[in-house]
Amino acid sequence: MAAKQRKIPAPAATLETQAYWEATAKGKLLVRHCTACGEKHHYPRSICPFCFSDKTEWTEASGKGTLYSFSVMRRAAEPYVMAYVTLAEGPTMMTNIVDCDFDALKVGQAVKVVFVPSEGGAPVPMFTPG
Ligand SMILES: [Zn+2]
Repeated sequence: MAAKQRKIPAPAATLETQAYWEATAKGKLLVRHCTACGEKHHYPRSICPFCFSDKTEWTEASGKGTLYSFSVMRRAAEPYVMAYVTLAEGPTMMTNIVDCDFDALKVGQAVKVVFVPSEGGAPVPMFTPG
């Protein structure tokens, strides 16, 4: 049984993440790409966390990934799944897994991004099996 979707608070956009949240509103997931070392990272920062270069730019992610780890929050009023998803592009992001049978989730399974409306803010990227 998929649980009822809990309410998602609006994300706080900063100058560093404004473009990221504008993209989620259009159904796109962006990651930050460093042109100095070639690494991609998430959550978006202007300075590359690998080589500390400021030569970073936005790039659109495919929205595909694999479930790296997860934890079902059963004691919440509306149970939900906290998870780390490793994107096909490389970065791992903290997120929620939605629209699925929580008991059937398995580490390593393929997931894809969905954009869940927040309360009065940009949609939040979450993942579902697929
Ligand atoms: Zn770098």
